[in-house]
Amino acid sequence: MPSVFIKTAFLKARFKCSRCGTCCHHKRPEEFGDLVPLERLKEFWQKSNLIYLTHQEVEAIRRETGLEPAQFVDTLFEYDGKTVHIDDAGERIILDFPVMKSKEDTTCIFFRDGCTIYPLRPKACRLFPFRVEEETNDQGDLTLNICYNESCPGMGMGKIADKALLQRLVLDQFKERSESVASEVRALAEEGRIGKNARIYRSHPGRREKSGSML
Ligand code: SF4
Ligand code: SF4
Repeated sequence: MPSVFIKTAFLKARFKCSRCGTCCHHKRPEEFGDLVPLERLKEFWQKSNLIYLTHQEVEAIRRETGLEPAQFVDTLFEYDGKTVHIDDAGERIILDFPVMKSKEDTTCIFFRDGCTIYPLRPKACRLFPFRVEEETNDQGDLTLNICYNESCPGMGMGKIADKALLQRLVLDQFKERSESVASEVRALAEEGRIGKNARIYRSHPGRREKSGSML
């Protein structure tokens, strides 16, 4: 059975947030279409700055703010609490993880002179400027590689980052996401909706609205 490993791509890293707000500006690389093939995922992550949410985090924000998910979440498909979508007669499995919506000026929908949902902010915000790159080997083992975003001006300042805390956040985020994906894939497989040569894609959340394209 494949295993999951968590590692950090650095020995020691200093970090102190200067509250510049850069991480609350969400970048979407225009050169990517609706779907991101897994072999280009690393490039996509390096060029984008999107805040991914788990369904539990969407639910907590909905409960506390009274907003509907469509008001603060971007997905490629209409948000219905599910991540896995099947297209092209079962030949494409599309993982459509929700990301935080942004305003016209690219700032987060919850950014007004700072974060207006600070106690509720998702784990991806708590982690920033640290982020995760996933690597899978031929045996299917998955490594969650914690690296950092060099555009953050707080890197290199302050105290040495607490690796144990970062790993705990990454593990919690991974568990919440993988549990829902695994159960959705299982249900779709039982219904016979996944083709035997199906390829996996990740979505470019919010892209469909801009391009007007149809899957
Ligand atoms: S980009 Fe870095 S320094 Fe600026 S607000 Fe985000 S975490 Fe803090
Ligand atoms: S939720 Fe808060 S911390 Fe996270 S991107 Fe939005 S404004 Fe910034």
